[in-house]
Amino acid sequence: MPTRQVTHRRLLLADADAFYVAVARLVDPDGAGKEPLLIVGGSSKRGVVTSASYETRRYGVRSAMPTAHALRLCPKAVIVPVPREACSQKSREIRKALERFSPAVEPASIDEFYVDLTGTERLYHESLAATAARIRAAVLESTKLTVSIGGGTSRLIAKLAAEEAKRRRAGDKPGVHIVPPGGEEEFVGRLDLAQIPMIGPKFQERLARYGMRTVRDALRHDVGVLEEWFGKRGGHWLYNRIRGIDTGPVEARIRSKSISHEETFFDDLTEDDDLNREVLRLAVRVAADMRRKGFLARTVTVKIRDGDFTTRQAGHTFPQPVSADRPIVETAHRLLRKLRRARRTSARLLGVAVSQLSEARDPSQLALFEESSEGDLETDHDRTLARMVDGINVKFGRGGLRRASELRGGER
Ligand SMILES: [Mg+2]
Repeated sequence: MPTRQVTHRRLLLADADAFYVAVARLVDPDGAGKEPLLIVGGSSKRGVVTSASYETRRYGVRSAMPTAHALRLCPKAVIVPVPREACSQKSREIRKALERFSPAVEPASIDEFYVDLTGTERLYHESLAATAARIRAAVLESTKLTVSIGGGTSRLIAKLAAEEAKRRRAGDKPGVHIVPPGGEEEFVGRLDLAQIPMIGPKFQERLARYGMRTVRDALRHDVGVLEEWFGKRGGHWLYNRIRGIDTGPVEARIRSKSISHEETFFDDLTEDDDLNREVLRLAVRVAADMRRKGFLARTVTVKIRDGDFTTRQAGHTFPQPVSADRPIVETAHRLLRKLRRARRTSARLLGVAVSQLSEARDPSQLALFEESSEGDLETDHDRTLARMVDGINVKFGRGGLRRASELRGGER
């Protein structure tokens, strides 16, 4: 099994531009078309501004401002209530468009999504900036909404880069900003401490007491000094934060779960053919279960309990999630061979599991991987075959269709 080189993480944050305003304009192009627009939560006059269009922002209007105040600043503004239904719908559409590029999409709010593209450099032969630009175009085409995209090696950097992209967007530049690996400290060093997420007004006051307003001010102090001033945890956190260090993953919400099947044998199995047949049967069941539950998996694990009760296992993680039988079955067979090479003895139990699950929201979400000829990645043919088999098994029960090799005793 080739070991993959450790690469930098490639994370994006896609953040819709003036989301509520943009959605309101799509819902009611005549009423809310050209006017400066305020989107208001609560009853219209007494409410608070949820979202302000770029036009009204020029008058000093900001979100969270009382509507009455906003109207004094910009009397021409048209007030529209939050179009809740349409916003949820558009949020789902954005997510769906993003999931065409990577299954690891984590919503951070209704209009912000982290996208983990780590590992896709093998598939997209282009820079992260070029991928981000394609994503931006795809979102615009399918949702009629523009997003600004920031990218880098951590969520924090992606978030800060997205804000940079929004600032530059005002100058009509494409709304993408990517911080290259190694460029984190320089990028964060240009900012004020107040711009760093989680550094709120109270913390800012404390920092100011030590003469720190910008990130650059704080970078001058070593970790020991910061820990003395802000406690061990606080100082350490700040030290990493201002260097753009943040190791939080993009969470596929249910990644800790796994789906597995195992079989304890009445008589221990000793023949390769018998073990191969069992692994095939278990892997096919696991794959079908997983698809029925609407998941994709990145990791396949095979477990074997030897005749003397020693339990051993081996696993393989794919560069991208898979759902079809072929990659799962082939991998399970390969792992079994590996375990058998390490110790050739009788087996009293075999198990196959898939883990690192993510939700398969749309069967076509892996369409982009089709061009690849890598044996590790599943093809459209694999998926079509798997769906067909699932359909037949639903109709006729599990024995409805068996693979020829399964009937012949597994010859892999
Ligand atoms: Mg936004």
